[in-house]
Amino acid sequence: MQRTRALCLIGSLCLIPYSATAEPQAAKPHATKPAAAAKPAPAKSAIKAPVPVEAQRAAVAVPVPEKKNPPPLAKELFGKPKVAADLSPRAIGSYAKGCLSGGVHLADNGPNWQAMRLSRNRAWGHPKLVKLLQRFAGEVKQDGWNGLLVGDISQPRGGPMLTGHASHQIGLDADIWLTPMPNRVLTRKEREEISATSMLDNTKLAVNPKVFTASHAAVIKRAASYLSVERVFVHPAIKKSLCETTKDDPNRAVWLGKVRPIWGHHYHFHIRIGCPNGGCEPQVPVKGDDGCGAEVTGWLKKVEASLKPPPPPKPGPEMGAAE
Ligand SMILES: [Zn+2]
Repeated sequence: MQRTRALCLIGSLCLIPYSATAEPQAAKPHATKPAAAAKPAPAKSAIKAPVPVEAQRAAVAVPVPEKKNPPPLAKELFGKPKVAADLSPRAIGSYAKGCLSGGVHLADNGPNWQAMRLSRNRAWGHPKLVKLLQRFAGEVKQDGWNGLLVGDISQPRGGPMLTGHASHQIGLDADIWLTPMPNRVLTRKEREEISATSMLDNTKLAVNPKVFTASHAAVIKRAASYLSVERVFVHPAIKKSLCETTKDDPNRAVWLGKVRPIWGHHYHFHIRIGCPNGGCEPQVPVKGDDGCGAEVTGWLKKVEASLKPPPPPKPGPEMGAAE
């Protein structure tokens, strides 16, 4: 893991544009270490000098310890670059702890997609993922959708984000809205402000069949059917619905096993492709189980428990005294 972190720093941070002075020494990240680290040296030499004790004390007392700022967090550093690291495409580390070099930007508008929340600048991904998204966007027409609204992919150099997402760090994850692309180009403002639609009914434990339709199910199946896609994350209620409506599908163990229940994900679903190169950590492959048994039932129980209000606090000594 340490090695991974070092790779990330070398692969990405050495190219961060704001460190202007570091450019000529880009291959030597340590060359930019602040000079302040060497400050105590004069005091040391003063102690060694054959001078009276009083003078020594004075010399020792002179240097005021410099108040060091804490080092920036990785999410602050990775949030700054506006463009990809100009290196060969490489996903580095793991989906939830890594970075991306050679990322490509999904165009704001394509023939069959529109990227959302443009101000976040998170439409960067590994070229293989971006290519897959473009293909997917065109093929959902067969499922009755006009195209895709694409949410977050990754930051230009991947890495952790200041807000949201534990994963999406190595350019291999993408969020797709569960709302089909409209038949017009959304304005930039609309892409910031439009709310996605939840697929759940009022119980929050099942999909609303008026909202989550057969075409939604077909789009999710399509995503999970691509060979390069290893996981599709959806809300447990969506998984349950897919389990119930695809019982006659002879291939469902192949694709439905990749569709995994997780918290949230009832406004959008999340697709994850496999590790395309050495240097990123592959996931445990799915075992061919469709996940429609204990797994989805267990998840729905967890969701149900999370919806219950917390029990009232037990009376403590103070409350008892007040009664
Ligand atoms: Zn996601």
